[in-house]
Amino acid sequence: MEIEKVKCLIVGSGPAGYTAAIYAGRANLSPVLYEGLQPGGQLTTTTDVENFPGYPEGISGPQLMEDLRAQAGRFGADIRFGIATASDLSKAPYKITIDGDKEIETETLIIATGATAKYLGLDDEKKYAGMGVSACATCDGFFYRKKVVAVVGGGDTACEEAIYLAGLASKVYLVVRKPYLRASKIMQERVRNHEKIEVLFEHNVTGLFGENGVEGMSLVKRWGEPDEERYTLPVDGFFLAIGHKPNSDIFKPYLDTDEVGYIITTPDKPCTKIPGVFAAGDVADPHYRQAITAAGSGCKAAIEAERYLSEKGLI
Ligand SMILES: Cc1cc2nc3c(=O)[nH]c(=O)nc-3n(C[C@H](O)[C@H](O)[C@H](O)COP(=O)(O)OP(=O)(O)OC[C@H]3O[C@@H](n4cnc5c(N)ncnc54)[C@H](O)[C@@H]3O)c2cc1C
Repeated sequence: MEIEKVKCLIVGSGPAGYTAAIYAGRANLSPVLYEGLQPGGQLTTTTDVENFPGYPEGISGPQLMEDLRAQAGRFGADIRFGIATASDLSKAPYKITIDGDKEIETETLIIATGATAKYLGLDDEKKYAGMGVSACATCDGFFYRKKVVAVVGGGDTACEEAIYLAGLASKVYLVVRKPYLRASKIMQERVRNHEKIEVLFEHNVTGLFGENGVEGMSLVKRWGEPDEERYTLPVDGFFLAIGHKPNSDIFKPYLDTDEVGYIITTPDKPCTKIPGVFAAGDVADPHYRQAITAAGSGCKAAIEAERYLSEKGLI
């Protein structure tokens, strides 16, 4: 197998990975970055990004990511197609296999592989992606001011998203599969007492409909029971809040993760329990999952990588 030695390897090309590459490039670490299956990361799947600082008129997700990529390239980041398929973090230098047929030996590793939102698996979720379907209330809620939206999920995140959206929308349906909420007591109470939120217990969504975007959802109440009921409800927005899957599988044997798979780092820092291995962005962030927070932690990871290499006399 071909082996290449580098000082700083970045895995992932979302805001965290590219920002790490900008800082590592400017610190002369000659970073190598592998983009993975989704060059540019999650924001390439959205149209308008209105909350990334520096763009008063907003910017399209793909354009923002192209700009970040170009900025990283300008400072010498070696940006490559390729997927990290295995890791050996048992000792430095750390070994990462790319596409199953090449090994990178690196003194520092920045994991910026993101997290993937879970969907119900309906064809209509793909059909209306960016046209009424969203997995991020903080990102897209603003587009639904004074409109009617649905949130799917029964945990704390779903309740939080419903409450957040209720501050903007005229009405929020919280669609819950079970006859109860899994959320903490306090969140349950806040949802139940909110005049704009209606909880639809024992409901499944079977489809979405609309001409040029989501206009409604098809529901089944008490699916498979003798009193099963099928009906439709008009909604303008459809928000998934059934969890995310952090892309951390290949690193899990070596790093601490929480029960969902988010990589655990030192509070307020991107440092993992392995010196020289850092995790930035959504893969280590169950709380915020925003482009700007991902970029911020990518910056921190590159600064930590530079300090580590400097302390070890490797630069
Ligand atoms: C539809 C949508 C709209 C959004 N809108 C907004 C918004 O308006 N504002 C906002 O702030 N946030 C928004 N977000 C959230 C934002 O996109 C994320 O918080 C942010 O992209 C996280 O950045 P990241 O760098 O951690 O990872 P990601 O953007 O998830 O990128 C992960 C990267 O890792 C790569 N990767 C994964 N596994 C591997 C591997 N094994 N080998 C190599 N590479 C790998 C992928 O190819 C990808 O490039 C939105 C998200 C979605 C899905």
